Amino acid sequence: RQFVIGEDLSAAARHLTSDWTCGETHSFDMLGEAALTAADSARYLQAYDTAIRQVGSLRPPPDIEQPSVSIKLSALHPRYEAQQWPRLQQELLPSLIALAEQASAAGVDLTIDAEEADRLELSLQLFAQLIAAVAPPVRARIGLVVQAYSKRAWPILHWLCELAMRHDTQIKVRLVKGAYWDTEIKRAQQRGLSSYPVFTSKAATDICYLACAHWLLDHPQQFFPQFATHNATTIAAILHRQPDATRYELQRLQGMGADLYHIVRAQHPNLRCRIYAPVGEHRELLPYLVRRLLENGANTSFMHNLHDPAIAIDSLASHPLQLEPPTFTALRNPAELWPQRINSRGIYLQSEIQRQSFFSELDNYRDRLYGGSLSATTNTVAVHNPYNDGLVGHWRSTDLAQLNILAANAREQQTSWQLTPIDERVAAIEKYADSLQTQRAELVALMARETGKTIENGLDEIREAVDLCRYYSQQARDLLTAPRHLPGTTGEDNQLSFMARGTIACISPWNFPLAIFTGQIVAALLTGNTVLAKPAEQATLTAQFATQLLHSAGVPTTVVQLVLGTGETVGQALCAHPAIDGIVFTGSLTTARAIQIQIAHRNGATIPFIAETAGINAMIADSSAQPEQLVKDIIRSAFDSAGQRCSALRVLYLPENTAATIEQLLNGALTQLTLGDPLHWSTDIGPVIDRDAHAQLLDYLAEQKTRKRIVCSLEVPAEGLFVPPTVVRLQRIDELQHETFGPILHILRYSNQKLETLVDDINALGYGLTCGIHSRNEQQALRLAKRLRVGNIYINRDIIGAVVESQPFGGMGKSGTGPKAGGQNYLHRFIVEKTITLNTSALGGDYRLLARQ
Ligand code: FAD
Ligand code: NAD
Repeated sequence: RQFVIGEDLSAAARHLTSDWTCGETHSFDMLGEAALTAADSARYLQAYDTAIRQVGSLRPPPDIEQPSVSIKLSALHPRYEAQQWPRLQQELLPSLIALAEQASAAGVDLTIDAEEADRLELSLQLFAQLIAAVAPPVRARIGLVVQAYSKRAWPILHWLCELAMRHDTQIKVRLVKGAYWDTEIKRAQQRGLSSYPVFTSKAATDICYLACAHWLLDHPQQFFPQFATHNATTIAAILHRQPDATRYELQRLQGMGADLYHIVRAQHPNLRCRIYAPVGEHRELLPYLVRRLLENGANTSFMHNLHDPAIAIDSLASHPLQLEPPTFTALRNPAELWPQRINSRGIYLQSEIQRQSFFSELDNYRDRLYGGSLSATTNTVAVHNPYNDGLVGHWRSTDLAQLNILAANAREQQTSWQLTPIDERVAAIEKYADSLQTQRAELVALMARETGKTIENGLDEIREAVDLCRYYSQQARDLLTAPRHLPGTTGEDNQLSFMARGTIACISPWNFPLAIFTGQIVAALLTGNTVLAKPAEQATLTAQFATQLLHSAGVPTTVVQLVLGTGETVGQALCAHPAIDGIVFTGSLTTARAIQIQIAHRNGATIPFIAETAGINAMIADSSAQPEQLVKDIIRSAFDSAGQRCSALRVLYLPENTAATIEQLLNGALTQLTLGDPLHWSTDIGPVIDRDAHAQLLDYLAEQKTRKRIVCSLEVPAEGLFVPPTVVRLQRIDELQHETFGPILHILRYSNQKLETLVDDINALGYGLTCGIHSRNEQQALRLAKRLRVGNIYINRDIIGAVVESQPFGGMGKSGTGPKAGGQNYLHRFIVEKTITLNTSALGGDYRLLARQ
């Protein structure tokens, strides 16, 4: 009731007359938040359509402006994202043009709201196309919102000014400060961007707002400014700059700033004022309401400070340029997020300039052949792209005689590598990390062509590998630089130090061809071990590429060596080899068991075995879960990377009372996904890894189909190893005994059942990798989390994409032995402990004790 004018326009209409009497008109917002499905966007389009007609028929008194309508482009298309630009031009632009024409015919102004920075360039491109497409009278009624917290606000106004001149029109610009500040900060940090897209001090936003206001006021031919703010100081500065209040409009939000506007209007009777008035049903209100509550609760907010008796009015009324330098701790740039290491660098693909430069680099590697000279030799393996069967390259497997030579090298080099100062080892690994970043275009292309990784997945994987290098480097320095002194009696000096185990066999899977491969090897190398690395045969070219980078970065060629071939031949021989002192393995449970049996049959020392294996990962949603958020997280968790992540969601528990709605939303959102070439930016889901996986997954789906369990399934491209993303209905979780490593999600409905029993069922499977909980009841979520025997639990988010150091990754039970990768205990498993006790009084007396006396 505070922030929303009514559930529909007829309910809202009851309040209009009193606002009009106070001299204020309205801009109605249909509370359309982002659409997830085509049905959602059709519904929102219909709602805007109806609203325009209804608003056009409102008859305010003659001195009150006709109310207008505000729209959100994210409500008009389920994929309002830069990746989907061609679709947006074909599907969203026509809707926009139709709405603008209809608004003009009804005599109603239309304003396009500003949303997240990711959508900024899209909205401007669409706005420019809209302006160009419609007739001058229609053009005159279209406006848009510019956010002053954006570092791009000022150039945007220049660009808009030029647009207005080109089309000989006046654009209505609503100038706001911006409502997504915390989201922008979080995203920029997550993506490792070079800087934030928004200002990080409130004063900077206020100054930018005033600078933009001046620009708008100075270009009356091109702009009609609508200043949307509740900040009295901002309003005073505008009124001071342009006392002729007929030259612009002031705007406030429903439920905010009414008293302030009352006073301002009393002083400036000519001033036009407008209330942004959300209209909508309660179930759609939440994100909007949360934004308003955050806004009003923030201690930087003018409204909040106005009600704080401890804040002097003089300080509130100061011009932002006169403020003392900020006393709060400045936000670190995303690159400096971690206290002791540099964050891996991301690319802001939503910015066309950054995107184009990266994509043109990527083009150099779309057809590159690897290991070309091997093609004519025997014993070579040809690698084909799972998307189009195109040739990517060749590699040659290691035979047993070669393995013996490699193993002998590794043993011979081990002592000198271990005695290499830790700083030199770290320098080499950090150089390798840097080179992963400089070579990222080639790596992204290679991973896409060899293992079907999408561009975004490839970039994320490179960042993870870089973070692992830097995090383990920092830890290795802490552990190995100097021995630790232990407490004890006088006359004795006790030291604990760590030394390498010897030679480690690193056996990695294909689904993280770079990150897991790198993480295992780098941990072993930093702690002074030599490495025999056996990558998955499906990811050999990527492993070779990375190993060359390691060698170029200064790791001697005999310290890290590749052993290539299948698991059953070379993998087994490696695990059985007497030269190795430990095995670190990531892969399937079956392989882990096979290796464990092999270890049991070894003679000599008992060697350690780190095994990170499969999961049957669940997500429990309770009936308080927010459906749109839940569905977005389900889709990413289950279908990203074609479900070929160990952490991927396999079983979703939905409560009986909301299941139908959520399943419907899920089906609708699923059909919006694009399957195709992983090297195409618009692709959400690529092919599965190889013919075996493809055949097995299709067999599984055929079986589910005969059992009539398919809830929905997508069409797939005719060519390529695609498996239809599918939702399968289950009755009980124990119907699943094995991981289905593909884009297949199982759903279970539950009713009147204690959530604790679901947790017990999940635990009873014996796996324990990841699990998600979606609930607006935090206590409940935490209670369930405590009971779950699972390595990584995620509440109210997706369950994939663990971040190094923040979310150390690894499971328990059948899912792994630990220690967690990217966590603080990982390196310990690669070293042995040694104590040295020195009797300092052996030469006739305890001089330290005596000196002290
Ligand atoms: P103030 O208290 O002066 O400013 C608060 C604002 O300062 C915050 O919202 C934030 O933008 C900024 N800020 C706070 N802390 C910091 C910091 N540390 N560093 C940098 N900046 C900081 N917002 C949109 O994003 N899109 C829209 O389409 C939109 N439409 C609106 C329409 C109307 C009519 C109105 C009144 C507001 C609209 N808003 C929109 C919300 C608007 O962006 C502001 O969130 C809100 O008006 C608060 O700003 P203020 O000037 O009233 O208050
Ligand atoms: P996989 O078990 O088939 O192969 C993994 C590695 O082991 C490959 O290098 C393979 O050549 C080798 N190998 C196979 N048989 C061997 C043997 N007898 N002796 C020695 N080495 C042998 O697994 P995959 O198909 O490459 O990867 C997918 C699996 O990995 C999935 O089960 C997934 O859940 C799991 N995985 C787990 C994690 C985790 O962190 N828990 C991460 C990624 C993948």
